[in-house]
Amino acid sequence: MSWLTNFVRPKIQSLVRPREVPENLWDKCPQCGNMIYRRDLEKTFYVCPHCGHHLRLPAKKRLDMLFDEAKYQRIELPKNHADPLKFRDTKRYRDRLLTAQKTTGESDALVVMTGTLEGLEVVTAAFEFRFMGGSMGIAVGEAVLAAAKLAVLQEAALIVVPASGGARMQEGVLSLMQMPRTIIAADMVKEAGLPYIVLLTDPTTGGVSASFAMVGDITLAEPGAVVGFAGARVIEETIHEKLPEGFQRAEYLFDHGMVDLVVPRAELRATLGRILGLLRDPQPQGAVASVTRAVS
Ligand SMILES: [Zn+2]
Repeated sequence: MSWLTNFVRPKIQSLVRPREVPENLWDKCPQCGNMIYRRDLEKTFYVCPHCGHHLRLPAKKRLDMLFDEAKYQRIELPKNHADPLKFRDTKRYRDRLLTAQKTTGESDALVVMTGTLEGLEVVTAAFEFRFMGGSMGIAVGEAVLAAAKLAVLQEAALIVVPASGGARMQEGVLSLMQMPRTIIAADMVKEAGLPYIVLLTDPTTGGVSASFAMVGDITLAEPGAVVGFAGARVIEETIHEKLPEGFQRAEYLFDHGMVDLVVPRAELRATLGRILGLLRDPQPQGAVASVTRAVS
């Protein structure tokens, strides 16, 4: 009987057993609470089809979306001394890093790629928010600098896409030093006469918003993105006043002149292509009448 129980029965069971349902088929919109089928989300670039909320994107997906036909080359980033302060809170910082590396598949919170966007050469540095809240430590500072150097070398535009909670506190003052460092990186690109474009995504806060994220030649933002330095609740408690509706949102910043354009995700690539095209090729499209002839 053993061949019946050991061989035949499992075979029959495997034929009649319903296939296992893969996990994570559905996502919940954090804005309207509706359930969204994962495949629908992929089609809408992770924008909720019910309320238009722009969900946070992993860095890899963001880059897939921005580059032409998702063709790009990943730039290997300099290796850093992890955990310079041997920091420990409830967990060792070194262990937190290892966990984040395992869950995201990235070495730190910034991913740098080079490729073409609407046919134009670009270097893009996108934050991985899932990596310790996209916090900026030495590795991120180093990566922003590497991206800027590469843009200058390739005479390409630099696009940075922040999604960050701010400086990485586990690296203490060393994380704060990345603020001037990243400003120097942005300046390198500008001094070379190349476009430095920032795309603010949800959330861009703390030390990141207080450094390279706010000095773009052109600053774009995704709808509804929270952009600010300190959290709204902290500010309310400090100044003992109620903050206006929509405070620290992309649209509010646009209304107050801090952002040049709020662009829905589906239009991002075309918009960036148009801006880059204008900045990289400022030649007039039509024939220009000579000034001397016009005067005579
Ligand atoms: Zn929604």
